[in-house]
Amino acid sequence: MMKTLLPGAMSGTGQLMTLGVMGGGQLGRMFVQAAQAMGYFTAVLDPDPASPAGLISHFHIQTPYDDEQGLAQLMQRCEAITTEFENVPAGALFTLGAHRPVAPSSQCVATAQDRVREKAHFVRSAPTSGVLPAPYAAIDTPELLAAAPADLLPGILKTSRMGYDGKGQIRVADRAALAAAWDQLGRVPCVLEKLLALKAECSVIVARGADGQCVSFPVQKNTHRDGILALTEVHEGALDAALAARAQQATMAIAHELNYVGVLCVEFFIIDGPDGAPTLVVNEMAPRPHNSGHYTQNACDLSQFEAQVRALAGLPLPTPRQHSPAIMVNLLGDLWFEPNGVRAQRSEQPVSPPWAQVLALPGTHLHLYGKLSARHGRKMGHLNITGASVAEVRDTTAKVLALLGLPGLDA
Ligand code: ATP
Ligand code: MG
Repeated sequence: MMKTLLPGAMSGTGQLMTLGVMGGGQLGRMFVQAAQAMGYFTAVLDPDPASPAGLISHFHIQTPYDDEQGLAQLMQRCEAITTEFENVPAGALFTLGAHRPVAPSSQCVATAQDRVREKAHFVRSAPTSGVLPAPYAAIDTPELLAAAPADLLPGILKTSRMGYDGKGQIRVADRAALAAAWDQLGRVPCVLEKLLALKAECSVIVARGADGQCVSFPVQKNTHRDGILALTEVHEGALDAALAARAQQATMAIAHELNYVGVLCVEFFIIDGPDGAPTLVVNEMAPRPHNSGHYTQNACDLSQFEAQVRALAGLPLPTPRQHSPAIMVNLLGDLWFEPNGVRAQRSEQPVSPPWAQVLALPGTHLHLYGKLSARHGRKMGHLNITGASVAEVRDTTAKVLALLGLPGLDA
């Protein structure tokens, strides 16, 4: 049983209670902000001296993730440690876990970082979760490639490890394309997934404590563009209520079956079932807060990052309440080069998007990650938009999207 690490208390090592995070990206930065708001000190391990979380943390250990001395320093500084991206070597979390509470555990992260293990976990959990992944086959030898079932085509070949934002995946129409794609991906272990006709996509964030208590945030409806999350809508009418309830129940079951501690996000596809009714297919999970949960910062009485702090520190996890309808707009680096979305006017030097005009609209909350350079497809920040009603939030969002030159909302 984990002891409670109270904020502002002195730790066992005689310093102010410090929480640590492996990885210094934007998710780590928002964890640090939530921890600091509650009175914790923070330590970040990330080799990048300009990492978004490292820049604002009390301590920043700048070593590789598997560096023994770096890990020893982190353990010395911190009473408990979490992670902010799933490609942190699970072995490093295992090392830390021998000496400090680590949430999520190395086993949970190892499952989430490997699509084959992850899908096997979904299949194992199906009796309690009620959801299955898309039909798939593991491909890591020429024999398995040749034996790939024909009914998985057309499909998507995805690397088992290290994929994110649609990277490391190729759509394949037939066997020739499949073989070419496997070559292109370097013949690393992959999964071939059947290409499904998606009606929509949604995701659920849950927080689970070491005592097994689990709470769910409302269900997010997600829109991807070019394999990257573009928009998240969380309000009445965005999703069928019964379907959303099933997604929440399934996510809790998946977390329980892993004995997961921390914040977990599970992504789902919504397809037409055999009887024409909307049906859930589980896609993947992230062992950490998720881009689709950023709206919780401004629209709920508990953010996904505070939930991560609480789960790590052994503090209570009351069920979060959404107090405002919300839409989250991702801000990619492209916005800095295509003022007002005009590709033809692409500027060489980055230009700041029109924040003053955006922020003049009520209910707009800007979150920029402090990244020093904008690049095509790079997540630079997000905007949470809240309002008194769904109509108001959609209206403000339409104005924001127009100001930024982004495609409008679906009707
Ligand atoms: P993330 O940014 O969430 O980490 P990722 O790179 O791990 O993404 P996936 O979530 O597997 O990739 O896929 C990215 C997107 O591609 C999905 O959100 C979905 O829009 C589409 N996609 C993936 N698999 C399928 C499938 N089997 N059928 C149809 N569309 C799919
Ligand atoms: Mg995904």
